[in-house]
Amino acid sequence: MTTPAYEPERFTSPEYLAVIDEETSPSQFNIPASCLKAIQLQGEAGFPHEICGLLVGNISDNSWNICEVHQVANLNDERAADRFMLDPAGYQAVDKALRGSGMEIVGVYHSHPNCPAKPSPTDLESAWDGFAYPIVSICDGTAADFKCWSLNSAATAFQNIAVVEL
Ligand SMILES: [Zn+2]
Repeated sequence: MTTPAYEPERFTSPEYLAVIDEETSPSQFNIPASCLKAIQLQGEAGFPHEICGLLVGNISDNSWNICEVHQVANLNDERAADRFMLDPAGYQAVDKALRGSGMEIVGVYHSHPNCPAKPSPTDLESAWDGFAYPIVSICDGTAADFKCWSLNSAATAFQNIAVVEL
């Protein structure tokens, strides 16, 4: 994990800066090393396109506890380099398989090819309250950074959540 090599100018624009609430969330994002590695490998394999997937686990004490990750197709072919649209059929399949398991879908991850692991205005538009949104930055095909985000209490911006690798 190094400092992102790429930060397109738009990430320092007022529009992009407004997406981030500087106050850090008190919550934690607990993820097994194997799940984190899987997200990094998926992001590298998908480069230069964005990949996306679902986080499965539970939420307790205001923290996310991840047990499994499931890559889901990115339906956005047109702008696959900088947008993602999670396949609803993939969502339903994972959701159905979880019934009765005590686990649920608790977030959505995606990659940012040659961009920092910071959310964009588009990410904010599609974010759900209560979900965790980790982003893996892929620079020239290699995972360079991993940060997790969730909506602030007013749902007006993303707050950074501490990532704890288990
Ligand atoms: Zn994004």
